[in-house]
Amino acid sequence: MRSGPLPEMKQDLLSLDLPGLEDWVSSRGYPAFRGRQIFQWFHARHVFLPEEMLNLPKPLRSQLAQCLLPFPIEPETSLLARDGTRKFRFRLADGGAVESVLIPGRNRATLCVSTQLGCRMGCAFCRTAGMGWVRHLVPGEILGQLYAVGRWLGPQGPPLTHVVFMGMGEPLDNLENTLCALRILTHPLGGCLSTRRITVSTVGLPDAMGRLLREVPVSLTVSLNAADDPTRSRLMPVNRRVPLAELCAALKELPLAPRRRITVAYVLIRGVNDRPEDARRLARLLHGIRCKVNLIPLNPFPGSDLERPEESVVVAFQEGLRSRGISAHVRFSRGEDILAACGQLADARTPGLAPGERTPDVPR
Ligand code: SAH
Repeated sequence: MRSGPLPEMKQDLLSLDLPGLEDWVSSRGYPAFRGRQIFQWFHARHVFLPEEMLNLPKPLRSQLAQCLLPFPIEPETSLLARDGTRKFRFRLADGGAVESVLIPGRNRATLCVSTQLGCRMGCAFCRTAGMGWVRHLVPGEILGQLYAVGRWLGPQGPPLTHVVFMGMGEPLDNLENTLCALRILTHPLGGCLSTRRITVSTVGLPDAMGRLLREVPVSLTVSLNAADDPTRSRLMPVNRRVPLAELCAALKELPLAPRRRITVAYVLIRGVNDRPEDARRLARLLHGIRCKVNLIPLNPFPGSDLERPEESVVVAFQEGLRSRGISAHVRFSRGEDILAACGQLADARTPGLAPGERTPDVPR
């Protein structure tokens, strides 16, 4: 018979929030503050090697070393666009790949992170949808994108000041893991990032949006993309489950902090949703919703025949909203030449489920 402690199982400790790590140390007979120390090493100092966690007792360090899985996300390639945007591709432990996009600014740097490997929303204008859905990312894989890019930038590089959840996947379809990553990122002992510097972009799942804003009051972007149900259902299949009236009613009810507004994203597609009457309908739809509109001229991608409208059409659409009292800006997304712009991320080599292949058990 063997004696002594059983060998420890490998565990995804990077995905545990603070109470999770406190429980983990308690179950091994250590006081809860040891969990806080590990949390700080991971999420405030980005140290993942137990032997470097010098304030921990040696036996805890070696237990940690036995349990800790390798860092979950390894940069494979990074591509620099003409406009300075850089796209990172990460290989995950199970062989899949996700992408993150670094958007440098003058005194800031924004990272656009992915929340799923693939996506099951099936939006007609989005390249990620074409790869289908493979799986959710766990919190350690979502945060790992930030930590790995932070390491790549190095101590001389700009700090990552802003995070947008707008990469591959629908963050609110992966609500628990997204919320956990957000709790860690905003925790005073963790990433300590202000909720004002975080934006979550969603197709608009009413219950999940409410829960998100109650638990972590980040900035919310809702991808509307059409102002009538037939067009939106054609572009975004999720609209068949949550039609516009229901979505807009939910937006009016959201627990928004005073003076904060929702951003409505509207991808402009030539001949599909870019007519003056679409602008008129959109203005009517948004009446009474505290929001501003970001107009995104479509980023085309190989294999899709959807096109970007002429600039004059984009300007006319914007004017159509402004003249009706809706604040509207045109946002050209960046990194288009390396397929890093909105809606262009995908791992062409990972075969996923086709969007319609499996009835999605997606939350509302
Ligand atoms: N699933 C989330 C986040 C990923 S998409 C969402 O839908 O919001 C991020 C943004 O890119 C969304 O506003 C989406 O409407 C936009 N987008 C998707 N494909 C695009 C494309 N081909 N060109 C321009 N914007 C696109």
